[in-house]
Amino acid sequence: MTAGPIEDLRAVVGDTHVLTDDDAMVGHLTDWTGRWTGTADAVVRPRTTDEVAAVVRLCAERGVAICIQGGNTGLVGGSVPPTDRPAGPLIILSTARMTDVDEVDVVGRCVGAQAGATIDAIDSRAQRDGLMFPVDLASRESATAGGVVATNAGGVRMIRHGNTRGQVLGIEAVLADGRVLRRWTSLVKDNVGYDLPGLLTGSEGTLAVITRVLFRLVAPPAATIVTVAAVDHVENIFGVLDAFAARGLRVEAAEVMTESGLQLVHEHGARRPVDTESPFYALIEVSGTGDVEAVVVDVLDGAPVTDAALEPGPARALWAVRERHTESISRSTTTPVVKLDVSVPIRALPEAMAELAAVAGMVDHPCRPVLFGHVGDGNIHVNLLDVPEDQAESVTGHVFGIVAANGGSISAEHGIGRAKVPWTHLGRSDVDLSSMRAIKDAWDPHGLLNPGVLFG
Ligand SMILES: Cc1cc2nc3c(=O)[nH]c(=O)nc-3n(C[C@H](O)[C@H](O)[C@H](O)COP(=O)(O)OP(=O)(O)OC[C@H]3O[C@@H](n4cnc5c(N)ncnc54)[C@H](O)[C@@H]3O)c2cc1C
Repeated sequence: MTAGPIEDLRAVVGDTHVLTDDDAMVGHLTDWTGRWTGTADAVVRPRTTDEVAAVVRLCAERGVAICIQGGNTGLVGGSVPPTDRPAGPLIILSTARMTDVDEVDVVGRCVGAQAGATIDAIDSRAQRDGLMFPVDLASRESATAGGVVATNAGGVRMIRHGNTRGQVLGIEAVLADGRVLRRWTSLVKDNVGYDLPGLLTGSEGTLAVITRVLFRLVAPPAATIVTVAAVDHVENIFGVLDAFAARGLRVEAAEVMTESGLQLVHEHGARRPVDTESPFYALIEVSGTGDVEAVVVDVLDGAPVTDAALEPGPARALWAVRERHTESISRSTTTPVVKLDVSVPIRALPEAMAELAAVAGMVDHPCRPVLFGHVGDGNIHVNLLDVPEDQAESVTGHVFGIVAANGGSISAEHGIGRAKVPWTHLGRSDVDLSSMRAIKDAWDPHGLLNPGVLFG
């Protein structure tokens, strides 16, 4: 990119907030998995919506492509520029400085936040007023408001509160030509026309730059118990969940792990929750009134579990076993991990997990499968470690073939990004894909926002 646009961008956001040195930009160019790396002419870090609007307007006038980046914890390569970058200038627009969180509206149970505010910061603000932010992920200290909205993140509380789309009351976003769209109301009912906040949720930065979000908050559960139960079959977890519900407990989270995953996090410092080795483990958090612990013990006594540990919430040590999976996998693999977030109908989960674990045997080079996920949502995170890079694509094809045959989705909660573009036809018909394309073309006619993400 010539000096002209860079100097103009410096005039908008301030000299120190336009990074052009390789050393300063490097952390913005590679994604969390290490699998996706690109190049950019600059990293631009606006502080306000007005600055975002001015940056986008300037880019639109000069034909500069924009890669939008929040916490860069996305796992499908959508937050970094393309490896084989299209001709023409490109900047990364980082929301790292847009971290304001408003005062909580306690009566309306909502809070506004700038796009770069982390999930942890939003939840901490809600907690000050006795409320809770219902979206929660292990990446909470880095993942941002804009990122979870752009990906329609699921997370560990999805089984209880639904995905991010259900928590978005209002949105402010800068359109591809620099105009600001603001749909900002805490009204519970408001049916004037299309649901644009709903459309931007899950749009993966392809339609607009989200600058602020008005989120719904919820009351936290009064008392919770967390258990990690060892089981021989995935089906046994469903039985335990049903038994908890039948005894009047509410399931706040339901996760599945395997012995290989447990061993890996143990090698990386987490204590084993139970001594018994078992093919599967369920982490279940329940809430209720009265003596919740006694009910949990009673249910587990009568359930087909081979061992169990339990603690009153927040039970951070038990949760750490589940939450350290992503990081431990990343530190153990010898090649960038093939990380595929998929879902299948809940009834198909046991068979699909067995088939997915067997994919490792289909690669010429020995590779290690680690499966875990949000069992209550039929969502499995398939991680294949040590896959030679030239085989990553064919292994991905095998996994998606199994998912499609089981009536599942190639993206449960992480989005399509760059990683899954060649396979979108497995989840959507031609008419569906061309309708999405028409929306993209209407909102971003010159294709400047996140080129290569979601669409090829
Ligand atoms: C340890 C770990 C655990 C995780 N657990 C979960 C989980 O349980 N559930 C889940 O759903 N995900 C999970 N993730 C994935 C990731 O944290 C989520 O996808 C998250 O929503 C990404 O937020 P981010 O701010 O890091 O976005 P980024 O990674 O920066 O960006 C993700 C996408 O959103 C776009 N984007 C970001 N900000 C904006 C904006 N302001 N306007 C428009 N587009 C924008 C980017 O262009 C990109 O396409 C996990 C990741 C890690 C590393």
